[in-house]
Amino acid sequence: MAMATAPVHSVAPTVAKVRSRTLFQSFIASPPRYLKSPPPKLSLSSAKIVASAAGASVAVELEKRTTDSSKSKSLPFRVGHGFDLHRLEPGYPLIIGGINIPHDRGCEAHSDGDVLLHCVVDAILGALGLPDIGQIFPDTDPKWKGAASSVFMKEAVKLMHEAGYELGNLDATLILQRPKLSPHKEAIRANLCELLGADPSVVNLKAKTHEKVDSLGENRSIAAHTVVLLMKK
Ligand SMILES: [Zn+2]
Repeated sequence: MAMATAPVHSVAPTVAKVRSRTLFQSFIASPPRYLKSPPPKLSLSSAKIVASAAGASVAVELEKRTTDSSKSKSLPFRVGHGFDLHRLEPGYPLIIGGINIPHDRGCEAHSDGDVLLHCVVDAILGALGLPDIGQIFPDTDPKWKGAASSVFMKEAVKLMHEAGYELGNLDATLILQRPKLSPHKEAIRANLCELLGADPSVVNLKAKTHEKVDSLGENRSIAAHTVVLLMKK
């Protein structure tokens, strides 16, 4: 049956292919200017990131990044996505966005296990084209054990400014079955704004349950997604 119908339809796809090829070829011949732009110039990326927490400091070697931005302008906008998930275990504090939330369990994790700040950091680093939070603050380094995640946030914001960007807007979604976040949402958002140095109008925070299914829905884990838009200053 397929054989019989093939000749009938053979002309249209051929025309479509020719048109697609022509468009593609003209796109390649003259790409939009934003596709010619290199990653932003980052002063630290060619050498070391130095951050300090609780009196300790660490230098993290990063791979050399493209720094030659002299040939063309850097992107006017950069978007980044972050995701994080932590197990919830009894006997640990539950820290979300730097706020201690009363609960029967918390995050057993490297640093303070702040799932929201971790994924916001990853979103900013992603937008800048940098390695993720695990590479910059490796959990194999005892110097970061118990460090407040606000330290990672401040470092990410510093990197953003050094690259010549500022926050356009941020949208984050927390996923957890319990406890209810509505009484704490404004405190979390206010702290997030302070850490970002951003106006509340550009920082949005949402929370969802996981319909009682899987580890998220069974109060055994917590997760967060974040999308950021950075704008060239
Ligand atoms: Zn994390």
